[in-house]
Amino acid sequence: MCGIVGYIGKQKASSIMLEGLKRLEYRGYDSAGLAVLQNDGVTVIKKIGRVDNLSAHAAKQKLSGHVGISHTRWATHGGVTDANAHPHVSSDGKIVLVHNGVIENYVAIKKFLLTKGYDFESETDTEVLCNLIAYHYAKEPENGEGTRLLDSVRKTLSHVEGTYGIAVVCTERPDEMVAARKGSPLILGVGDHEHIIASDVSAIISRTQNVVYLKDGELVHIAKGGFTISTLDLTDVSPVIDTVTWSVDDAELGDHDHYMLKEIFEQPAALENAMRGRFSADGSTANFGGLNLTAADFRQIDRFVFTSCGTGWHACLVAEHLIERYARIPVEVDYASEFRYRNAPLDRDALFFVISQSGETIDTLAALREAKRKGYKCMAICNVVGSTIARESDGGIYQHAGPEIGVASTKAFTSQLMISAMFALYVARMRDMSFADGVDYVNALKQVPAKVTRILQQADAIADIARRYAKYNDFLFLGRLSLFPIALEGALKLKEISYIHAEGYPAAEMKHGPIALISEECPSVFLVPKGELFNKVVSSMQEIKARKGRIIAIILEGCELPEGLADDVITIPDCHDAALPILATVPVQLLSYHIAVARGCDVDKPRNLAKSVTVE
Ligand code: GLU
Repeated sequence: MCGIVGYIGKQKASSIMLEGLKRLEYRGYDSAGLAVLQNDGVTVIKKIGRVDNLSAHAAKQKLSGHVGISHTRWATHGGVTDANAHPHVSSDGKIVLVHNGVIENYVAIKKFLLTKGYDFESETDTEVLCNLIAYHYAKEPENGEGTRLLDSVRKTLSHVEGTYGIAVVCTERPDEMVAARKGSPLILGVGDHEHIIASDVSAIISRTQNVVYLKDGELVHIAKGGFTISTLDLTDVSPVIDTVTWSVDDAELGDHDHYMLKEIFEQPAALENAMRGRFSADGSTANFGGLNLTAADFRQIDRFVFTSCGTGWHACLVAEHLIERYARIPVEVDYASEFRYRNAPLDRDALFFVISQSGETIDTLAALREAKRKGYKCMAICNVVGSTIARESDGGIYQHAGPEIGVASTKAFTSQLMISAMFALYVARMRDMSFADGVDYVNALKQVPAKVTRILQQADAIADIARRYAKYNDFLFLGRLSLFPIALEGALKLKEISYIHAEGYPAAEMKHGPIALISEECPSVFLVPKGELFNKVVSSMQEIKARKGRIIAIILEGCELPEGLADDVITIPDCHDAALPILATVPVQLLSYHIAVARGCDVDKPRNLAKSVTVE
């Protein structure tokens, strides 16, 4: 949430920042702004709306400076206005700052600064930061070491409660930048005679693959063509420079209309990558290099606790179903935001899993820290290598799905389902699952990418169905067992990108309440399983039909519905039960996407949302 790009080097800072902001725009798009140090002062441009709007305004100005900071905002404190957009400038005009996060004690700091004569032009929590830095900077003597700005930022942050990723420049120090983080992601790109500060690597990879992932409580000081890292309590840190494997092309839109559609079509590759190198030589189980636990450790575990937020939480529910069914180990699923405050009693030998595509979701990070504080080992399933959650967990499984830019998660979700299915197999084979069943399971998972490709070949037909349903304002998504989380996910996708009210429900529960919603105006999307529950779900469909509800059915090849029961049918390839949630997800993604497009919605930047939620 919120994108920061800061540049210090030999190039025109504004061009590099605008390109970086464009790549980070999915993190927030209420407003955008930039500041460039030039002509012994600073030029600040900030506007509500998208980065393109900022670029248009920037094009009218002469921005030749080589040092600057910039921001795309996802408002937390104060409305969406030009004045509330970042960067903010201290009332003495010297300190310029961008911020991601929330300053929880901003009211007290503001009161203090008002008594010291500082003025405020915005309603944001952020503005206290630049004025407090200015206050300390004014008191700080110039020292021979050139650390006056750094020291002022450090002093300021020692008084701050809340979360921040910040980048700061000072009009009196045109060759310097200070950045710091606590709770919000921040990365330093180390290029050829240039440094870039950004909230995530996508803003850096066009300039350099060399990055330093800053840790909470660290400050980076860029000056004299180099950089140093230290902590809030004045300890020097030796930087570790990592190499990013994602390329610029991975994050480009290419020929697709939207990132969401591009990422839906990337699912066969993402699923292959989730499996690559992770099956045993005998083809009967999965292997994970990064769990850092032995088979003997796993045998001691008598419960798993899975936590996440949003779409990741639906992946947790699928993991629960698969692990309980195949490995017979109890699983508890909790919203990360609730887990942290619920103080639930926990089994002594529980193992924690958190799921986060970005690895930066603040609620999930807080849940991980809470579990660790209580002494539990905590594993992470993350897509972004080097992310905070990946680093702070005791072990984990990387998704290798490539960058996900669309705000509505698609390929990251099915990749999480694949990893959940593989992990269920891994622990099941340590318990009662036979070698032969393990081989069947592995073979079934290996077929999933090709089966997803076959569903994607029906994309035009699904788009036709979607267009016919785009006029409705209420939807139900209904499924049972492992398809219930997919019903939740289908409803969430539709809500997120088309602003249609949709509810996901266990199909049999529908008659205990939601059936009251059914009319000709409220269609239902049924996710129909095969096997013992097929007839039960067909009965639920009959109950809807009897009340004139329209039905879209997603069914497996080989299953036959009574004539005329469903108004529209989407068929998915027959598959093993462990693969079913993955295959059933693809049609609901395409339905939601095409309904949103038909309604003229901005699919990649849905209103009020942003990707990678880094505020609580
Ligand atoms: N809390 C700050 C604001 O509302 C920063 C929000 C963000 O992270 O974009 O302006």
